[in-house]
Amino acid sequence: MPMQTSMEGCVHGMEPAWCYVCRIERSGADPRTAWGFNAWEDDRDPGDRSGPMSLTQAGYLRFLCEEFEETFDPSLTDGQSAIIVASFLDEPMTDSQARTLFFLSQVVGTEPDTGLTYGQARTKIRSLIAIRGLKSA
Ligand SMILES: [Zn+2]
Repeated sequence: MPMQTSMEGCVHGMEPAWCYVCRIERSGADPRTAWGFNAWEDDRDPGDRSGPMSLTQAGYLRFLCEEFEETFDPSLTDGQSAIIVASFLDEPMTDSQARTLFFLSQVVGTEPDTGLTYGQARTKIRSLIAIRGLKSA
């Protein structure tokens, strides 16, 4: 199939408008956190975490709010933000993720997964990128 020439591709071979890797890179969020490497290892009960969010966590939550077109509330406590982040990760994957998954699955030669949550899709994209040797986080 010929490549589309009407649009400039991004460095990942996709289109910057929907490439999930580009979205993370553009977001300004800490890449390791945005890719889920720094999943909350803070196992205290969120109700006990009444301090403010760290800058890293605030950047991550801001990115997720943009992903889901929700309003970012900088006044959330650390514990509240952890609950909201977890609920975003349980949402169905976004269109950007679905297109990225489809593209990468074709490149690698596997069937694209469907019906994933946002968090699952992110993990899958991460592993496909690793297989393909693309630069990411
Ligand atoms: Zn890209």
